[in-house]
Amino acid sequence: MTKGPPRDDLLSTLLGGSDVSCPVCAYNLRGLNSTTCPECGASLQLQVGSSDLKLGPWLVALLGLALPLGFVGLHTLFTGAVMIVIAKTQGGFSAGTLRLLLLPATLTIAYVLVLWRLIRRRRKFWARPRAAQRRSAFIYAILGIGLLLLYVAARWLGGFYFGLRM
Ligand SMILES: [Zn+2]
Repeated sequence: MTKGPPRDDLLSTLLGGSDVSCPVCAYNLRGLNSTTCPECGASLQLQVGSSDLKLGPWLVALLGLALPLGFVGLHTLFTGAVMIVIAKTQGGFSAGTLRLLLLPATLTIAYVLVLWRLIRRRRKFWARPRAAQRRSAFIYAILGIGLLLLYVAARWLGGFYFGLRM
């Protein structure tokens, strides 16, 4: 690696000849000879950006998993809490109540695993062509939210079915 001028010198050179806004307060930094914004006090540094890095599709995929995870996760916690209360009054868990917890808990774990993979491999996602990113985001969101709707429908129909039998 060849050693160039320190980054702070490069920053001063850049600001000496161009209008650049402070990324925090939008104050014009032209002519600034320090690494602190005189208006808001934010520390400044020179960075390389890329207009190819657009997080839209990845965020859509993230939300398509995070929203159902929030719903199913809370539902699992709530169901678990109710079961503990029931178990305390009846002196133990029955197989039937544990079975009620199995599906939401499995779904929660599945959402966490896929979400974790999406976050861990985000750079691979960002490096793909935009069309492929959009396609992936669409699939993640449709599957993520579709699975939640399927689960809600199954629970609702299941409750209806058991309600008729009792
Ligand atoms: Zn500022």
